[in-house]
Amino acid sequence: MLVDTHCHLNHPDFAQDAPAVLARARQAGVQALVVIGYDLPSSEAALRLAESEPDVFAAVGLHPHEAEAWSAARAAQLGEMAARPRVVAIGECGLDFYRELAPRAAQYAAFHAQLQLAGEMGLPVVIHTRNSVAEALDITAPYAARGVHGVFHCWSGGAEEARRAVDLGFCLGIGGVVTFKNARDLHAIAAQAPGDRLVLETDAPYLAPTPHRGRRNEPAYLTLVAARVAELRGTPVATLAAATTANAGRLFPRLPRKLSGPAPPRSLKGGGGTGA
Ligand SMILES: [Zn+2]
Repeated sequence: MLVDTHCHLNHPDFAQDAPAVLARARQAGVQALVVIGYDLPSSEAALRLAESEPDVFAAVGLHPHEAEAWSAARAAQLGEMAARPRVVAIGECGLDFYRELAPRAAQYAAFHAQLQLAGEMGLPVVIHTRNSVAEALDITAPYAARGVHGVFHCWSGGAEEARRAVDLGFCLGIGGVVTFKNARDLHAIAAQAPGDRLVLETDAPYLAPTPHRGRRNEPAYLTLVAARVAELRGTPVATLAAATTANAGRLFPRLPRKLSGPAPPRSLKGGGGTGA
């Protein structure tokens, strides 16, 4: 059983067939999915999905591409959403110096504000970086010292930076890129990172793993990511799945306690239990 800690079922690419995509994920053994917002409408959509599907949870936030839309009103709206129990994190937020669709000053401001919000809400933070890991670590460090933790999703930094992230109390999100032949740095990190700090993600609809590379990604393909990480670590995939699922539960404390193993058959639940 697996947890997709980062996917975008709220993306227009899934507008036509989200129920079928979700069904395939369940069939593949993905027992929980965290749908990540990247602007206000997608955060609202993530929350709607999370409040209508038992195994879907939401993160609400503003992607660095959208950083210019940050305002006090935005902060209040996200804070209101984040108070809902199905919201498990703030994000994704961070810095993107690759496409740099928003000016850096706006990216820094929105990132700081969302780290602050995460601290106030007592929620973990989902961090996006592109060509900006070192800067993002510098910004995050003082918040981490005050107890803000979370995940650097789609980890793209080096080994030294990975050590820094782990030292700050953060998890490393490993996605489809780890299945690419030429991603040697990421192979090494996936192989050597502390086993209690790795979480798996698809980032669907982006970054589909081999052999789907270049096409629409979906949460069911998380099994391919899990298989490759298990292979790199020389561990059985079931062991890797159990460990990363437990890690996801610690990363997102609002996920239900019971994230390991299949649900008990109805007949064993008894009359008095309320279930999970
Ligand atoms: Zn994402």
